[in-house]
Amino acid sequence: METTKLYLLTGESWTWFLLKFKECIGEVPNLAIITDRHPAIILACNTIFPNAFHGYCCRHLMMNCKMKSDKLQAIYWKTCKAYTPEEFQRRVSDLRGFRPEAYKKLEEAGFETWSRAMCPADRYNYMTSNSAESINNLTRHVRKAPITQLMEWYRALLQKWYCARRDKYKDSDANTLSDWATHKVMDQMQKSAHWNVLEIEYGRLYQVDDRRRVHQVDLTSRTCTCHKWQLSGIPCGHVIAVSRKIGCTVYSHLALGWFRKTTLYSTYQDLVYPMGEPSSWVRPDGLQVVKPPNMNFRTAGRPKNTDSIKSQGEEPIQYEAAYTNNYVRSQEYEATYTNNYVSTQEYEAAYNNKDGGSQGYQSTYNNMNGSSQGYEAAYTNFNSMFEQANINFGGQSQHPLPTMPLTFSQFNLGQSSQQTYSTWDSSWDPVNLADP
Ligand SMILES: [Zn+2]
Repeated sequence: METTKLYLLTGESWTWFLLKFKECIGEVPNLAIITDRHPAIILACNTIFPNAFHGYCCRHLMMNCKMKSDKLQAIYWKTCKAYTPEEFQRRVSDLRGFRPEAYKKLEEAGFETWSRAMCPADRYNYMTSNSAESINNLTRHVRKAPITQLMEWYRALLQKWYCARRDKYKDSDANTLSDWATHKVMDQMQKSAHWNVLEIEYGRLYQVDDRRRVHQVDLTSRTCTCHKWQLSGIPCGHVIAVSRKIGCTVYSHLALGWFRKTTLYSTYQDLVYPMGEPSSWVRPDGLQVVKPPNMNFRTAGRPKNTDSIKSQGEEPIQYEAAYTNNYVRSQEYEATYTNNYVSTQEYEAAYNNKDGGSQGYQSTYNNMNGSSQGYEAAYTNFNSMFEQANINFGGQSQHPLPTMPLTFSQFNLGQSSQQTYSTWDSSWDPVNLADP
């Protein structure tokens, strides 16, 4: 345990993990990494991905700054999600007036690390590490199993998801947007139905009065002065109003390519294979034998729950009902589990195929009964298995730019995390494109 803590503090485990990860994905241009502010993660990211943008998860930051009241949180999220520097400055000065000590911490963190408007790179509209937390939540019981079974669970999950998504998008038209993006565009279509558009330069530059402000749309540079189009990749209402004005009622070409179904299909084009029988694995020479920790001791009192590692300044959220009432607890789990898939386009296939997903989970969970056997073998085999996994996932490095940034958090260290689901509740809205 002490060794684990030391690794966490020095960043050694994160550095090792990111090194291995870099071997898989290679040098990705315009890479964005979204994490919490754990010093070990910051250190490892700076070392292994010095050219990547490293932003912070706004949800973690909110907890770090102890912003608990609804009013304060509302101001904070509007500040995070502001599209223009002007709007950001207005919101952040509201926040400073309301809670100066929180403002000070946010300033120390650096506005560019958490604000959409002030971000110097492209964070692909990801304001939180929700996707990592969703995976965490999904695997919280499986993480109790030996490491080889955990890895196999992840591998089988990817095999299932990749296959399902390839199948879903296999006949997609090149110009069709994903269901999620289509919904966003339709939203903007309705909003902008009666906005007034005037030409500045025909075919290129237009002014749009949205009844609150007047914005300029430049079709050549694909920009709008509201900044939504260029920052989110989804056309804002102003662009759609202009498009309608010039007689074009098809809007899919206005969205960035990564929202198209064909892009989703190509993201999942590689096949994920089974590992095969352990006896057939190629075992590299010189593998270190790692024995399981000595568990034959018991400290006085109730065992400390080490399921999750809290972020700096984070306080556990108590859900008394969930802990005292199994029925409520399972309901909450269901809600969170269902909500796991809403956050990104990538999750759409799984969202539409929830039954299949939960069946896979169930079968893995049931298989864990045999998991306590052969601990030593499982630990010893881990390195070999991980090497194999790297080979299996290696094909992904050939992909074009990912449609989402990497999102890590310190919860992902293989620590069992039964409490995580209660900290990351289902009311957390993961959709970052919501308009003010
Ligand atoms: Zn606009």
